[in-house]
Amino acid sequence: MTNNVPTTMKAAVMHSIRDIRIETLPVPQLKDDEVLVKVMAVGICGSDLHYYTDGRIGHYKVEKPIILGHECAGEVAAIGANVNRVKVGDRVAVEPGVTCGTCEACKEGRYNLCPDVEFLATPPVDGAFVQYIKMRQDFVFQIPDTLSYEEAALIEPFSVGIHAAARTKLQAGEIVAIMGMGPVGLMAVAAAKAVGASQIIVTDLEPLRLEAAKEMGATHTINVAEQDPMDEISKITRGKGVDVAWETAGNPAALQSALSSLRRGGRLAIVGLPAQNEIPLNIPFIADNEVDIYGIFRYANTYPKGINFLSSGVVDAKKLVTDRYRLEDTMEAMERALNHKNECLKIVVYPNQ
Ligand SMILES: [Zn+2]
Ligand SMILES: [Zn+2]
Repeated sequence: MTNNVPTTMKAAVMHSIRDIRIETLPVPQLKDDEVLVKVMAVGICGSDLHYYTDGRIGHYKVEKPIILGHECAGEVAAIGANVNRVKVGDRVAVEPGVTCGTCEACKEGRYNLCPDVEFLATPPVDGAFVQYIKMRQDFVFQIPDTLSYEEAALIEPFSVGIHAAARTKLQAGEIVAIMGMGPVGLMAVAAAKAVGASQIIVTDLEPLRLEAAKEMGATHTINVAEQDPMDEISKITRGKGVDVAWETAGNPAALQSALSSLRRGGRLAIVGLPAQNEIPLNIPFIADNEVDIYGIFRYANTYPKGINFLSSGVVDAKKLVTDRYRLEDTMEAMERALNHKNECLKIVVYPNQ
């Protein structure tokens, strides 16, 4: 079933580092269990910027032209013969990783660890800076009319925060510290608020980001350029420390302060990936205080919750969108994200406008 789907579409294709060209490509053909989504909004993520400037993240290397972008939402334009979860015309959020469904990780429900996952905009898989994208139906989620496409695109970074909250068992009434207020950190604040953290203490260097954190639900902001995070957290918690800390920036000093901000028996999540493999951590502190440490890799089973939380109005995630671009200007959008970090929060590209 289709809805006036053209045969060709525009795509923003990265040919090499800092070289994105607008090209005409065929609209993807569907398998029986796939959905064709007319892409209405795509957020630019830190990982897109890494591929754009370095051509690689760890062992994932761009070896042929690739389409970036993985935080997307849109309208169902066509469905395969066996699709029953959505219909043509539905507004949907797209979860960007398609898993095998049969390996141990998948069967355990931890499908983010599936070794065969095909994740949008992770080489060699193409992403969402296109007008139409196809996706297996179990990764397409209907959204209510009250949720805008740009908010639905933000479910992706929001999912990381929801997953961190689940992994670290953050409970209503607990105190959480979140280090780093990039888009993932900001959406993690929203996740902490959504699950009912009583105090949400955040750190960053950029005043714009700390202000945005307050909008997302932070109760205390610490500018680490001016204040010592340990002193401030100690004051706020009256010397006790926080129940849970999440480091989202991949900053070694922030990871060390996240660890030392914990109360005895506290839980730490490592969300941000540092540039270096090894960072000194206070091992006796971890042992003496029975600290639990959780690695966070993407997310699993978060989209339905993310859609419900954002639809409920618990936070207004739209406030994070500072810049909007057409697909034709994807490269300009990437350059803006790179060169104006102090002015931009989330930049969104609209492929069908
Ligand atoms: Zn992302
Ligand atoms: Zn699997």
